[in-house]
Amino acid sequence: MSAANIAKDAIRIAHTAGLSKDVIDLLERKITLLSDQVTSLETENASLQAKIDQLEREPRDDAPILKHRGVAFHRRKDGSIEDTVYCPKCESPLFSASSSIPMTCHCGFVAPFKVRDIPTMISEIEAETRA
Ligand SMILES: [Zn+2]
Repeated sequence: MSAANIAKDAIRIAHTAGLSKDVIDLLERKITLLSDQVTSLETENASLQAKIDQLEREPRDDAPILKHRGVAFHRRKDGSIEDTVYCPKCESPLFSASSSIPMTCHCGFVAPFKVRDIPTMISEIEAETRA
């Protein structure tokens, strides 16, 4: 039952209990105040949950570097593996102008795979680390 439904029930009960108009008005004001507070807390909770989700997606500061096929991957705080691939020479993120050419680094490193191979590589790492 939502806070709004509980408030409506409380007002209905107050009317049928034969309470005076002053008491009912006071109860209605309190219920409105509480409903506003519930709405505010629900909004704050949703915002905090979104922040938690965002933080869990970030790489861990102490994340172990996962070496695979000659490059490095980082594990996120939530345990998943970040889909950014890092250079084994200078640790910068690799990039690719196209999915059909190998990924490269500004230092000159050329990876032995293409950007479209990354999901498969992440699956391989997950299978290896699970075993
Ligand atoms: Zn590099």
